[in-house]
Amino acid sequence: MSRPSRVVIDKQALKHNFKHIQALAPHSKIMAIIKADAYGHGLVRVARTLSDADAFGVACLEEAEQLRIASITTPIVLLEGPHKATDLNDIVKLNLDIVLHNEFQLDILEQSKLDEPLHVWVKIDTGMHRLGFPLSKTDEVLKRVADCKNIKKPYRLMTHLATANEDSHPLTQQQLENFKQFCGDIDVEKTIANSAAVIGLPETHAEWIRPGLMLYGVSPMSDSHAEQIGLKPVMTLESELISIQKLEKGEPVGYGATWRCPEDMPVGVVAAGYGDGFPRHAESGTPVLVNGVRCALIGRASMDMLTIDLRNQPEARIGDRVVLWGESLPVEEIARHADTIPYELLCGVHKRLEFIERE
Ligand SMILES: *Cc1c(COP(=O)(O)O)cnc(C)c1O
Repeated sequence: MSRPSRVVIDKQALKHNFKHIQALAPHSKIMAIIKADAYGHGLVRVARTLSDADAFGVACLEEAEQLRIASITTPIVLLEGPHKATDLNDIVKLNLDIVLHNEFQLDILEQSKLDEPLHVWVKIDTGMHRLGFPLSKTDEVLKRVADCKNIKKPYRLMTHLATANEDSHPLTQQQLENFKQFCGDIDVEKTIANSAAVIGLPETHAEWIRPGLMLYGVSPMSDSHAEQIGLKPVMTLESELISIQKLEKGEPVGYGATWRCPEDMPVGVVAAGYGDGFPRHAESGTPVLVNGVRCALIGRASMDMLTIDLRNQPEARIGDRVVLWGESLPVEEIARHADTIPYELLCGVHKRLEFIERE
């Protein structure tokens, strides 16, 4: 491929992060969350690398099907459950577990004739108010679950936290209290923790944890980055310098002429842009690494190109390597400069890029 932009996936880093998670929650089974093409890292690639996971969590049937076609036999949990009655046949065929989170799903489960009963995670809404049965309905729901022939027993229980990534937000304790009260002495397997809770709330680990972002070596906390918590970035987005200009003091750079040279200086052009998934809203000053040295993005990101202040790297030449995030440049930092979250940047890397696996 002549275009020099590429995504490097470090499989050792992925394995390292998984082991690190095991060490943080030694008594919990791990449902590795690999929805959204494994947060942009490649669904099947990540599933094959994480062969020790106890289960995989995906968002939709198409993702689950891709895994089964690739001969992945690990349990797979459909995190949104069935969307319509005919999904149930595919769920049985692909041997999937489901999250059961509303009455519509319970209705279609009760009304269907399935060859096999399904493993079900009953999801309780303890305060996030996205998916889950409301606390006021749970007695009635659990009775119907117990009576439903299409649900394998024992069922399992689940909830999801809205504010686990924020230090001591009052909603977190409220949700945990609600879940504890609701569970009472129901003796089934439970799961609460996403990455933020795996890291910051050990009391939420329970029988299963559900890490996503941290698998990929990224911190879910707004005030830290991965290295500080023992994780290694898995994805590096990199490209090369394709042009260098010497500009004079006062000359503008890029669309809208939003940035002007404060002095005579070298400006480099990198062959990557928002068409590759680099955020267009990244501000001037967003760091990039040129030959491993920190330089700054200047002016607006274009579709296929970025302009870089090369005053820190005056010897840089055409063809030199530029890292946009990943190794030695946390994606958390880029997200902060682009007014977004690392999740969005990772999921948004474009499939037109060449993906290279590092063993
Ligand atoms: C995406 C998701 C997770 C993983 O969240 P991270 O913040 O990436 O760890 C866990 N549980 C559910 C239900 C999810 O949808």
